[in-house]
Amino acid sequence: MQVQIFIKMTIGITELNEDINESINQSSVASNDAFNEQLHYKFYQGEITLKSRNLEILGSVNQSLKDDDFHLVFQPKVDVKTQQCVGAECLIRWDHPRFGKLSPIDFIPLVENTNLINTMTEWIVKKVLTKLEQYHDVYDAKKYPIAINLSTANLSPDHQLYKSIIHMLQQFDLGEHVIQFEITESLLMKNPMDSIAVIKSLQENHISFSIDDFGTGFSSFEYLSQFGVTEIKIDRVFIHKMLSSDSDLSLVKAMINLANLLQIKTVAEGVESREEAEMLRELSCDYAQGYYFAKPMPFDDLLVFIQNEQIKH
Ligand code: C2E
Ligand code: CA
Ligand code: CA
Repeated sequence: MQVQIFIKMTIGITELNEDINESINQSSVASNDAFNEQLHYKFYQGEITLKSRNLEILGSVNQSLKDDDFHLVFQPKVDVKTQQCVGAECLIRWDHPRFGKLSPIDFIPLVENTNLINTMTEWIVKKVLTKLEQYHDVYDAKKYPIAINLSTANLSPDHQLYKSIIHMLQQFDLGEHVIQFEITESLLMKNPMDSIAVIKSLQENHISFSIDDFGTGFSSFEYLSQFGVTEIKIDRVFIHKMLSSDSDLSLVKAMINLANLLQIKTVAEGVESREEAEMLRELSCDYAQGYYFAKPMPFDDLLVFIQNEQIKH
């Protein structure tokens, strides 16, 4: 069998500094810029490049929301025992008109520092509800709820986002628990008193909350139960290391056992191998997500993923 491999090369150019590592960093920034701008080479344009690039990214969010340059992909969450799908997480992608495909890691931290994050989250919730309405004949959203990631500013009581979400839920009227929110531990720790009122009113409107990247922050289980959290997602750094490090395995075990005691569901993030999946089954972890089961995919592919699974079982 012959396999054709296409190699794309870009060159980043900079002046040689006294600090050779700095020169290497600068040339790699320039080469990355060249790749994103589809050029063969580019000269390093100094710190201002990164700042102005970030400003340009922020400046184009609104237009890109209007032009549908953003789109959503969905990563299935599966039951560890039966391997059947139990829902999916919605992840945003951006086909930027100038910078090409941007990962959320490139723009969410920027957008999160501005009020634009509320506009973006509102756009995401509306897109998801619209999809669920459009596909309600073939997609049972109560059986496969969609989880949406929230940022800190999204839970601010000063902003009207949560009211707008509740309004959209009432308008779409798709039933209870069709969407879920994922929030990180650090988000909960930042403004606990402010967030709690907003979380409660969303919970009253039948949205459940899951704690993302669990284990990387400092929250206690007691604290979580005060927030009425129904699920924790164990961060993938622990899942990656649990087969090679006894202390990480003990940590994963302890998180699962404590969560089980408190009737909080556990999700293992970033599962990449059969061995990891088997270990999680032994540890009585409820659900898992990761490339071993499925990568994030367009909504249509998620429908096929679920249909194929129904044929298998
Ligand atoms: P997250 O919420 O922890 O999402 C999981 C990330 O891990 C996703 O990256 C997913 O593609 C990736 N992933 C899933 N399975 C595996 C695996 O087996 N191995 C590895 N190495 N990675 C895996 P993605 O889509 O690049 O998102 C990165 C982060 O950006 C997310 O982390 C989340 O914090 C943020 N994000 C993504 N979409 C949104 C959004 O719509 N709103 C907000 N506020 N944040 C978002
Ligand atoms: Ca998440
Ligand atoms: Ca996560």
